[in-house]
Amino acid sequence: MIVKNLVVGCGLAGAVIAERIATQLNQPVLIIDKRPHIAGNIYDYEDTKFGINVHRYGPHVFHTNNQIVWDYLSQFTEWHYFMYRVKAVIDGNEINIPFNLDSLYKVFPKCLADKLAMNLLDKFGFNKKISILELNKTNDNDLKFLANFIYEKVFLGYTIKQWGVKPEDLDESVSSRVPIYISRDNRYFQDKYQAIPLKGYTTMVENIIDHPLIDVQLNTDFFDIKDSIKYERLFFTGPIDEFFNYEYGELPYRSLDIKFVEYDKEYFQSGPQINYPENYDYTRSVEYKYYLEQKSHNTIVSFEYPRTFERGINERYYPVPNMKNQTLYDKYYKKLIDLNNVYFLGRLADYKYYNMDQVIERALTLFNSKILTLIGEK
Ligand SMILES: Cc1cc2nc3c(=O)[nH]c(=O)nc-3n(C[C@H](O)[C@H](O)[C@H](O)COP(=O)(O)OP(=O)(O)OC[C@H]3O[C@@H](n4cnc5c(N)ncnc54)[C@H](O)[C@@H]3O)c2cc1C
Repeated sequence: MIVKNLVVGCGLAGAVIAERIATQLNQPVLIIDKRPHIAGNIYDYEDTKFGINVHRYGPHVFHTNNQIVWDYLSQFTEWHYFMYRVKAVIDGNEINIPFNLDSLYKVFPKCLADKLAMNLLDKFGFNKKISILELNKTNDNDLKFLANFIYEKVFLGYTIKQWGVKPEDLDESVSSRVPIYISRDNRYFQDKYQAIPLKGYTTMVENIIDHPLIDVQLNTDFFDIKDSIKYERLFFTGPIDEFFNYEYGELPYRSLDIKFVEYDKEYFQSGPQINYPENYDYTRSVEYKYYLEQKSHNTIVSFEYPRTFERGINERYYPVPNMKNQTLYDKYYKKLIDLNNVYFLGRLADYKYYNMDQVIERALTLFNSKILTLIGEK
């Protein structure tokens, strides 16, 4: 078989690059995916029993400050505006995550919370986000006490469960993803745009790739067909180490075992996401009916049990950013230079902990900077 543009992977990265090629270059695209569905890790579905929209690979909330990305995506979906709120159970109390000034008053008596809040404001200022590592570095004894408290109660247990290591052994890009927020803003994200596609992520991806020049073939693994297919351009959104047949070794990932449980009651918990740094083997429970404010007498909740990624056993969820893995990734990336008309993009091919908006930005930038300029030169 001969195709002009082959896209491997029908997640966000693959869908966006395919859309650009079809609509901007007027060229045919074949997207293949080894899974039986489109949308990659943002795949969601309407549960047939209760009519609740469920995110198959874990909860997804779209958030961005990038106007270009927001405008791009808004062509393909209407939005349900949604400010995400996350709680964690600490000493049996539900507190806001990120840990903020309100959280202080939930876990300490008022006189102590007043003092700590004052010290935080003096030292860092209002509306500032700081990492646990920064808080730990202060010389103020009260703030050191607070840093220890938050470290022990909020970060330590959760990080060990999620990543299998202590927070200090993680790359700062991971540990600083959930900061301490010197504010009373109880939202999980502060981005300008925060929303969920009104008809779900899968429908949104369906709309992105809905073009007469785009064909999709599911249940098709690139490595099963690569010797029988010829292409002018290849866009690969699968794992970079697999592409090069693990020549230098495997890039590690964290995986998840996500258990979905149905409950015969209207609500299971007080909000969409509760984290459990101290109790249970799972890291968080997620109640999906909150996302699109769906009404039902029943409810569906997922519980996430982090696992080490094992090839053929479970899915790659989170890349593990650190120097060693970056060096391994760089070694693979250098091999790309020898390949003509092969482009890597997406969380697996770039081995990056991308949010959805960053993946879209990555695909749009690749198209504008590499593909459009190439065509212009011809
Ligand atoms: C649990 C979890 C929660 C998240 N929550 C959020 C959130 O709230 N907000 C946010 O912005 N981001 C979130 N993200 C990040 C978001 O999921 C990613 O940014 C996005 O889905 C990445 O898209 P992608 O196309 O790069 O990868 P993927 O969605 O993984 O798509 C890659 C596709 O390639 C296919 N593929 C791989 N190898 C092959 C092969 N050999 N042959 C054929 N097909 C192949 C795969 O089957 C897959 O469908 C979350 C991530 C996780 C893990």
